[in-house]
Amino acid sequence: MTDIRIQMHKQLQSKSLFENAKTYAYDYMDTITQRPVFPAQDAIKALELFNEPMPMTPSEPLEILRQLHEIGSPATVAQTAGRYFGFVNGGTIPVAVASKWLSDVWDQNAALYVISPIVSKLEEVCEKWLTGLFGLSDGTAAGFVSGSSTAIVCGLAAARDELLRRVGWDVSCKGLFGAPNIRVILGEQAHSSVFKALSLLGLGRERVELVPVDSQGRMIAEKVPKLDNTTLVILQAGNVNTGAFDPIEKICDMANHAGAWVHIDGAFGLWAAASGTTKHLTLGIEKADSWSADAHKTLNAPYDCGIVLCRNRNALVSAMQATGSYIQYSTNRDGMLYTPEMSRRARAVELWAALKSLGRSGIAELVDGLCERARQFARILRDNSFTILNEVVFNQVLVSCETQEKTKAALANLQSSGECWCGGALWNGEPAIRISVCSWATSEEDIIRSAAAFIHVRDME
Ligand SMILES: *Cc1c(COP(=O)(O)O)cnc(C)c1O
Repeated sequence: MTDIRIQMHKQLQSKSLFENAKTYAYDYMDTITQRPVFPAQDAIKALELFNEPMPMTPSEPLEILRQLHEIGSPATVAQTAGRYFGFVNGGTIPVAVASKWLSDVWDQNAALYVISPIVSKLEEVCEKWLTGLFGLSDGTAAGFVSGSSTAIVCGLAAARDELLRRVGWDVSCKGLFGAPNIRVILGEQAHSSVFKALSLLGLGRERVELVPVDSQGRMIAEKVPKLDNTTLVILQAGNVNTGAFDPIEKICDMANHAGAWVHIDGAFGLWAAASGTTKHLTLGIEKADSWSADAHKTLNAPYDCGIVLCRNRNALVSAMQATGSYIQYSTNRDGMLYTPEMSRRARAVELWAALKSLGRSGIAELVDGLCERARQFARILRDNSFTILNEVVFNQVLVSCETQEKTKAALANLQSSGECWCGGALWNGEPAIRISVCSWATSEEDIIRSAAAFIHVRDME
């Protein structure tokens, strides 16, 4: 029998595992732009090799890495190469990845200060920096979670608890059965993760008041029902298809006047606040009560890097509360106070590295670049008689061909072309091709080449 402890000590000493991982990673970085954006059929077929029975005994570590690189790497989606426009995915900032490598070796748990002073410090710094970057009021609390889906749950939980507390109901102790009513108001185009959060929190996906939207998916402020102090209003900064922003300031003013709580889902759009060129889109965000954003989208931090922000620190902390005689809170920042999880990886490390490496001017330049290349994409496609279905106000472009059939066929051909990758959506009931320019790596040449692929696949028919 092998002594696994001795084996692992040897692996740590020899470093060959880590050297190999580094070599494979460098190989990946160096060849990524030559690979098809979506893996080729043979690469996907080779994934069958992973279908093996669970080993009865230990496997050779170098062999594990080799398998991962030789079979795994070719079956990845080339997200970091500059011609991936699916969903709203974002690329990765090199120093953020490198910092993550280092912190992987640290293996820190971000739950409490006493478990990791360094992570506690970086969370504290990121909280301050982000609050300033988005122009929110001093003292705003931030929780670092996996992504916007979780961040929205946190923001809405704080809202639910606080709205009910104000009418004398402690929902964390008594639950929702028999609780006073609270209303939920959101736009018809709210993201699916908002509805998921509502269902998780017992607020119900269907017992909401939906506000009609305009042609871009923006809530129509005049159609917002009368608000009161038992109302939760959920706004969107960045529609996942059109990139459009709800009329934030107008609705926040109405909500503040009525004593309602406003949460803003700004998964990718909140970052518009960081550039002078796009700041007008987020005008008034500081008047909301809570916000959610993804650093792994527009900021190009590695996955998973979501952020919940809450103006009322106590509301967030009390919604996320956990107690246990062994939990040792400190006078320093204890990260688990702001998140549903207890043990958590140290995602603030990459976030901090990304923010520090770009600085305010770099983030503005990043955001502006994405928008500029989205406009470039739209311009070329329009000049080649595609229809651009949206006003390109941010990084999203919605495209269609002459007929629904042509749009569907072009999308399918595009996805298998390997040249670039876009997703599809239904917009006003009709199929559309979605372009999300979300990676720093996307160059003007990438746009020209990808637009050429659009033209090619359309004319194939
Ligand atoms: C991506 C996205 C979400 C969900 O975020 P995850 O990080 O994938 O959980 C929510 N809202 C909007 C507008 C998004 O773009």
